[in-house]
Amino acid sequence: MSNLQITENHKVEQEIVTAPRITRRPRDYQQIPIYKDVNPLDWEDWHWQIKNRICVKDVLSQIIKLTPDEEKGIDKAKGRLSMAITPYWGTLLDPEDENCPIRRQAVPVVQEHIVSAHEMTDPCAEDRDSPAPHLVHRYPDRVLLLATEHCAMYCRHCTRRRLVGDHEEKEVNALNRFDAAIEYIKSNRKIRDVLISGGDPLILEDEALEGLIERIRSIPHVEFLRMGTRIPVTLPQRITEKLVNILKKYSPIWISIHFNHPKEITKRCEIACDMLSESGIPLGSQTVLLKGINDRPYIMKKLVHDLLKIRVRPYYIYQCDPVRGTQHFRTPVAAGINIMEKLRGHTSGYAVPTYVIDGPGGGGKIPVGPNYILSQAKGKYVLRNYKGKIYTYLE
Ligand SMILES: *Cc1c(COP(=O)(O)O)cnc(C)c1O
Repeated sequence: MSNLQITENHKVEQEIVTAPRITRRPRDYQQIPIYKDVNPLDWEDWHWQIKNRICVKDVLSQIIKLTPDEEKGIDKAKGRLSMAITPYWGTLLDPEDENCPIRRQAVPVVQEHIVSAHEMTDPCAEDRDSPAPHLVHRYPDRVLLLATEHCAMYCRHCTRRRLVGDHEEKEVNALNRFDAAIEYIKSNRKIRDVLISGGDPLILEDEALEGLIERIRSIPHVEFLRMGTRIPVTLPQRITEKLVNILKKYSPIWISIHFNHPKEITKRCEIACDMLSESGIPLGSQTVLLKGINDRPYIMKKLVHDLLKIRVRPYYIYQCDPVRGTQHFRTPVAAGINIMEKLRGHTSGYAVPTYVIDGPGGGGKIPVGPNYILSQAKGKYVLRNYKGKIYTYLE
């Protein structure tokens, strides 16, 4: 078994050396005809970015050359998870290459309407483990609060597509919709960690977000609050001085950011991450393993290295959940294990995330990875290291 892996290793080391350049540079927005006259102050205004999201074919086709699969995909993606792309993200799209990783994450294709074997609406059975509206309680000491059903951009691989992205639905910003969830947290003293996610919590207006954080923070047994967001990547303009000053007041807050590809780490994104870091918010990244986007070891390695450079600690790589219509994004589990094999030992430990499969049916996150224990018996462990060399540890 380990011999095989060693040979495999050498092959991939070769690949890393000869890896092609990953990215074409993003365009300045002034280079895109429909944006050339936009006032820079508007461009930097997150509300402007939201208001001018790309939601229809006619606008998108002025930015990139659409393929027939994309055109059909956009037409069919109505209602839940319909297309919405911030103009900022629009500048990162490769206008010619339909396989551009930025483009595939944002532009619907017809394949989304194929439901494959084993795919589910709610693969992680979150609805079943919900003791109150907007709340998922799976682990003993922590809960997940789904603070909104909206995002700056709708990712085509979204695992919560059952809930997210209906533009028609009126946003109910009333804070009392979380009353039952907050009561539940208050009455359950084992809960020490609240993860606010969604949708994307940073899509809320400052006042609504602060109101929610304040209510959770004031529960004495909640020690730790964190947020899951993709906004520093899809709408970095949202990270304003005012926002970071609000977040600072409720320290400790940790933030996990959904990063999938090195091309997402732009100068603008770096500024947003710096502002968060400098307000004392530790940053982690959560990456979904996606076929043709980040399933090659050299791309994942570049991503985790570039993340450390902007002070974001790689936290998880997720196997793509078996959610309906995502077959074209899913890789074999072996692809993820292979990536972990090429990271551990080959680069800084801080750059190595944990690869997890969210157990279908509600098992929670289960770590998977290469096997380093070759045998284990009576006080004796036979181990292999990252190079495949064998060592014995005696207890
Ligand atoms: C991911 C998740 C958490 C947080 O898990 P950690 O491993 O602590 O980051 C909590 N609740 C639910 C339902 C989750 O899916």
